[in-house]
Amino acid sequence: MDHPHKKPNEVEQLKSQLLLKVAWYCLFLHAMLILVFLFVEVELLALFNIFSVATWWFGIKLLRKDYLSLALRIFSLEVTAHSIVVCLLIGTDYGFQFYLWAASCLLLLDIQLKLKQAVSWCTAIIIMFAYTYIGFIPSPYQIAYHEYAPYIHFLNVVVCGIPMIYTIGLIREITINQRKELEILAAHDSLTHLFNRRYALGLIHRAQQSCVSQKTPICVVMADIDHFKRVNDRYGHELGDEVIFRVSGQLKRHLNDADIGVRWGGEEFLLVLPNCSLIETQQRIENIRQAVEAMSFQADDLCVTMSFGIALWHPTQSFESVLKYADVALYNSKHKGRNTLTIAPESALT
Ligand code: GH3
Ligand code: MG
Ligand code: MG
Repeated sequence: MDHPHKKPNEVEQLKSQLLLKVAWYCLFLHAMLILVFLFVEVELLALFNIFSVATWWFGIKLLRKDYLSLALRIFSLEVTAHSIVVCLLIGTDYGFQFYLWAASCLLLLDIQLKLKQAVSWCTAIIIMFAYTYIGFIPSPYQIAYHEYAPYIHFLNVVVCGIPMIYTIGLIREITINQRKELEILAAHDSLTHLFNRRYALGLIHRAQQSCVSQKTPICVVMADIDHFKRVNDRYGHELGDEVIFRVSGQLKRHLNDADIGVRWGGEEFLLVLPNCSLIETQQRIENIRQAVEAMSFQADDLCVTMSFGIALWHPTQSFESVLKYADVALYNSKHKGRNTLTIAPESALT
C-alpha cells in the first residue's frame, strides 16, 4: 500500500540528466567531425565544428545550472544551423540533413515552449529537411573520398537515430511512471497512504461480489481514534498528524494483501476484510487494538487508543446498511468507555 512520492521537478531532473548524456555524445561527435572534415579537406566545416563543440560545451554548462529550456533551444538551433550549413556546402549525399529530425525532437522536449510554437518550429525544421532534396545544389566542394558518401550517409542516419530512440524511449518510461504515480496519488490519502474513500468504494464492491460468488465471509470494521480532539488540543496539530500516520502504519501492518484499508474521515478508518469470518476479524482487530495501545510517542504521557465496530457483511445487505451497523457498533464501543471493540448484533443474522 506504500507508494513513493516523486516531486514533479524530479522528472525534469531526470530529463536533464538524460539530455546531459546526449549532449556529451554530441560534443564528442562534433569533435570527431573536426578531424573527419580536416581529413576530407573541407576546412570550413572543420571550423564550423569547433564552433559546434563550443556550443555543446556551453549547453552542458547550462544544463548543469538547470537551464534546461535554454539549453534545449541552443542545442536545437545548433543542430539545425549545422545541418543546413553542411548540406549547403557538401549536398545531401552524406545524410547530414537527418540531423534536422533530431533538432525538431530536441525542441519538442522544451516544455516551456508552448505546444503551438514548438509544433510550428518543428514543422519548419522538417519542411527544411524536405527542401534539402529539392533546393540544395550539390557540393561546390570537390570532396576527397566521395565514393564513401553512401557509407557516411548510413552512419549519419544511425548516429542521429540512436539518441532519438534512446530519448523518446526514456520519455516514454517517464510518462508511464508518472501515470502510475498519478493513479497511486488519486487512489490514496496523502497523510496515511491508505486508500481514500472515493477510490476504495469500487474495490470494496468488487471484493464483496467476489466473496458472495465464492460463498466466503467478508467483514466491515469502522475504527476511530479515541479522544483525538484532545490530542490536537494538548499536543498540537502536528503531533495529531503524526498520531494518525502512526496509527495507519499499525493498521497496514496488520492488513493482508486482500484487505482494504481506507482513511474514511479525519481520524476514522474503514477496514474491509474479505474471506475473513467474524471470529477471525474479532481476533485480528483485537491485535490491532493492542498494538495501537502499546504505541509510544515523543510526548511520554500521550496514550493513543482506538475503538472499533465490527459487522459481518451479509450477501443480501447493501454497503450502506452494513456500514451503518459497523458505525452503530463503533458508537457502542465509545459508549462502553472506548479502547474496545463491539460486534454489531445484526451480524448474528443468517
Ligand atoms: P471520540 O473519542 O468520541 O472519537 O472523540 P474525538 O475527539 O476523537 O472525536 P471528534 O470527532 O470530537 O474529534 C475529531 C478531531 O479530529 C476533530 C478534528 O479537528 C481532528 N482531525 C480531523 N482530521 C485531522 C487531521 O488530518 N489531522 C489532525 N491533526 N486532526 C484532525
Ligand atoms: Mg475519535
Ligand atoms: Mg471521529
